[in-house]
Amino acid sequence: MDERHPCFNSNAANNARMHIPVAPQCNIKCNYCNRKYDCLNESRPGVTSEVLSPEQSLVKFKEVKSKLSNLTVVGIAGPGDALANFKETKEAIELIKNESPDIIICLSTNGLLVEEYADELKALGVSHITITINAIDPVIGSQIYDSVIYEGKVLKGIEGASLLIEKQLKGLKAMKERDMVCKVNIVMIKGVNDSHIEDVVKKVESLGAFMTNIMPLIPAEGSKFENMPLTSNRELNLTRMKCSSSIKQMYHCKQCRADAIGILGQDCSIDFRNVGCSGQK
Ligand code: SF4
Ligand code: SF4
Repeated sequence: MDERHPCFNSNAANNARMHIPVAPQCNIKCNYCNRKYDCLNESRPGVTSEVLSPEQSLVKFKEVKSKLSNLTVVGIAGPGDALANFKETKEAIELIKNESPDIIICLSTNGLLVEEYADELKALGVSHITITINAIDPVIGSQIYDSVIYEGKVLKGIEGASLLIEKQLKGLKAMKERDMVCKVNIVMIKGVNDSHIEDVVKKVESLGAFMTNIMPLIPAEGSKFENMPLTSNRELNLTRMKCSSSIKQMYHCKQCRADAIGILGQDCSIDFRNVGCSGQK
């Protein structure tokens, strides 16, 4: 494994990563999701100042690279789903890899399309991937996912959750078979999946996940889960500790924005605001 990725290796904490927000669309609807644009004082997944085209992301990458000598990773983390916008994701990766063959490319996804794009992702040089898998039980999943759109059909409830879970697990296996390093994110939602997380962790470990990243729900304003209870650090760390006997745990996730730039926890995306973008909101 390339050890330079600061999310996968806490010893690489001084390396910077850059998220390029080229993926605005999503193909599922999570009850905790609220994607926001041009929001400078909010730091959480799904938030970005702007959406960039692949060409704009290359311009911005060059600028960031010239200023941050410790930049080692370019990631696509939304603001929607990297693979629901595969055309833009692919173009951006090709442009950036062409400019800088040594850069680590990672992406995060809900997992619905991972298996379908597995060979292409490998060919593009994606080495690190994160799949968010919040449940392996469709009944629990149906409380987290409002709907799943697949092959033009909108699937709701248990039907949608079943398909998503099946695709996520197959996708994870496909990544492992292609020697890609896979992290699984799990959003801990009190009263919904908190007592199910150990089962999820055991399952993804058996399919070859490298580590799991159990994160607390951020009850985003305007989302269906905006009034859900918060998980305390103690509860979170207790669950992580229980799961650490199965698989490596991530303790240093900062739940970053979709346009985050810099060292984890020291976001400097504001310094690069408008670089490469059209100025239109
Ligand atoms: Fe929002 Fe991500 Fe869920 Fe899509 S996968 S609905 S972007 S949280
Ligand atoms: Fe790394 Fe967590 Fe930030 Fe993703 S959200 S870039 S895993 S620290």
